[in-house]
Amino acid sequence: MRWDGQRIGGASGDDATRAAADDALPGLALSGLVRSVRTPEFQGVTFHEVAARSALNRVPEASRVPFRWTVNPMRGCLHACTYCFARPTHEYLDLGAGRDFETQIVVKTNVVEVLRAEVARRGWRREHVALGTNTDPYQRAEGRYRLMPGIIGALAGSGTPLSVLTKGPLLRRDLPLLVEASATVPVSVAVSLAVGDTALQQSLEPGTPDPRARLELVRAITDAGLPCTVLVAPVLPWLTDGVEHLDDLLRRLADAGAADVTVMPLHLRGAVKPLFLQWLARERPRLVAPYRRLYGSGAYVPAEYTRWLSDRVQPLRRRHGFTSRAPWRPTHDAPEPALVGAQPTLF
Ligand code: SF4
Repeated sequence: MRWDGQRIGGASGDDATRAAADDALPGLALSGLVRSVRTPEFQGVTFHEVAARSALNRVPEASRVPFRWTVNPMRGCLHACTYCFARPTHEYLDLGAGRDFETQIVVKTNVVEVLRAEVARRGWRREHVALGTNTDPYQRAEGRYRLMPGIIGALAGSGTPLSVLTKGPLLRRDLPLLVEASATVPVSVAVSLAVGDTALQQSLEPGTPDPRARLELVRAITDAGLPCTVLVAPVLPWLTDGVEHLDDLLRRLADAGAADVTVMPLHLRGAVKPLFLQWLARERPRLVAPYRRLYGSGAYVPAEYTRWLSDRVQPLRRRHGFTSRAPWRPTHDAPEPALVGAQPTLF
């Protein structure tokens, strides 16, 4: 999806860290581009600030996700997960799904004001809005732009239910706001943590906070009085699908106070597949051939693997007390998942 706004000019103002819009990548064609910014706090990263004409995105009818609206204040993600399903969406912006996705971050700087106008319209039916379905709304750049407080306020203030999924401990900053919002509208918060081994996590998700930081985030959300679901996804065949790893991870999540866990296997759509195979070739070369066999020419594990993983996870869920029937909530990691370990009736 391209940004719909109109180009409104190059750089202006007095931000000493700003680079001129001419510093944008050659060929970059972002509608609504206001300026491109680099700053010493984010080495190697360029922020492309755009004025967008819309904030609410309608989910295509064909999608099986249990929400119809999303807001994505940014495109691209500093968390740089190797397996990230959202990578190919950068290609719609004339950017690459690889390094560009991690370093060329598009920011809808006017998202709050546009959203406020959209949810104030008479025709807005206050349907559930999922935050961060394409990229992580609490990636580190949110510390610079502070868009989420306004987004939460606009949704809650209009009586719109919302959900947030993140890997970012920065969410703690907005916990008081989320708690306040939950007094007037349904609010659900989920954290993504699928790799318990720190070395593997740093290799697979080099821009993300380590498992301990995310466990502490789960604890903080729970202590604030909001139930926290954890998305244990993607589970990586031969890397993180062992009983020992899953058992240990679910135990740590239970100890941190997680209300429920949803476990899903890796899928590799579009440009993500060659990128992930490159990572495997570099880090786990012996697994390249098994992955090629498992995924074949497609993007998904076979149904047998999904059943096998589900059978493996169910007793672990019970062992660690994850027996609730809390609804699964939207994710940026897995928009159309083969659901494992949660209630199949949700879709
Ligand atoms: S999986 Fe989520 S956190 Fe990781 S890069 Fe993609 S959007 Fe960011």
